[in-house]
Amino acid sequence: MNPFPVYPLFDLTPVRAEGSYLYDAEGRAYLDLYGGHAVISIGHSHPHFVKRIGEQLERIAFYSNSVQMPLQDELAEVLGELSGYPDYQWFMVSTGAEANENALKLASFHTGKHKVLCFTGGWHGRTSAAVAVTDDPPIVAPLNAQHAIHRVALNDVHALREAFDWDGENLCAAIVEGIQGVAGVVEPTVEFLQELRKLCTEYGVALVLDEVQSGAGRTGRYFAHQWAGIRPDLITLAKGLGNGYPVAGLMIAPSFHARYGLLGTTFGGAHLACAAALAVAEVTRDSQLMAHASAVGEPWIEDLRGLEGVVEVRGRGLMIGVQLDRPVAELRQRLLREHGILVGSAGQKHTIRLLPALSISADDTARFTEVFEQELKRR
Ligand code: PLP
Repeated sequence: MNPFPVYPLFDLTPVRAEGSYLYDAEGRAYLDLYGGHAVISIGHSHPHFVKRIGEQLERIAFYSNSVQMPLQDELAEVLGELSGYPDYQWFMVSTGAEANENALKLASFHTGKHKVLCFTGGWHGRTSAAVAVTDDPPIVAPLNAQHAIHRVALNDVHALREAFDWDGENLCAAIVEGIQGVAGVVEPTVEFLQELRKLCTEYGVALVLDEVQSGAGRTGRYFAHQWAGIRPDLITLAKGLGNGYPVAGLMIAPSFHARYGLLGTTFGGAHLACAAALAVAEVTRDSQLMAHASAVGEPWIEDLRGLEGVVEVRGRGLMIGVQLDRPVAELRQRLLREHGILVGSAGQKHTIRLLPALSISADDTARFTEVFEQELKRR
């Protein structure tokens, strides 16, 4: 049997990782500015993460949601405080798509409606409803295309109002990323998010904020939508939540009444997942990684803006999209091969994505800028 090919592969086989670096079997170091698709938040193999998971593994690794789980209560408490949503409920799953799938399902149960408003460039995962609201036709199978959706151009406030005028009564949810990741780091404007919040409230539509990529402190606040001063009804979280341990979750506004049968999972929220997410939240809080993400990220964004060949730099904190005047594929390979630097791509072929650990040092970001400047001049 052979592994199913999932993505095109880099010529890199990491065998060890620490902080912002990966190491291959020969001991060559690679600066990781992609964090394995925005997953690494507190840094690879952080000692507190390793210790907490290791100790938990020795006690009990797993039991399902059918027993008392004080670790889940502890995590809900810590995340509630850290995120600014202490009054929300917390439901745990294992992946980002699953979190979005459950958010849409809960919105549909709650409102009794079934159509979902979504946006151009949106990317929400590969499960049934999550992929149907994703703006990436080649990954939507005929089976997924059965869902009722209404797609509007991101940041077009006029089109947004028209969509609610026309379809507001049919919508159970509107789903939007805090900052669009796969699209190439594209921010919804403050005006757009505020208008969306207003219209959702007016029409009884659940506002779902997909913070799978932009959450967990990456933009300098716990969630990217907090820069727009809105409060969603449902917030999904994955990637950085577990720093590589597969853990995800859904924050649910108090207006949603829980009842058995609405949601369920076998693996979600078991002991090891809670230990991993707790370790990440504790390090994020105690090492002030959100403030660090802004302190390192904002000047980095400014430096990148000044480089020849850079058309636009988008994003906040350590969620950065750099759009060039050329396709990025060859440049990414050169950065890896010749400089040992790993950067991400995006759906948009002229954009690289920088999504490093929130603990990255200013020396490492400066090293990248220097190398990048040389490479951009090379052509
Ligand atoms: N939502 C967003 C914004 C994402 O970027 C992704 C993955 O890239 C997902 C959802 C899906 O997450 P997962 O791959 O964990 O299912």
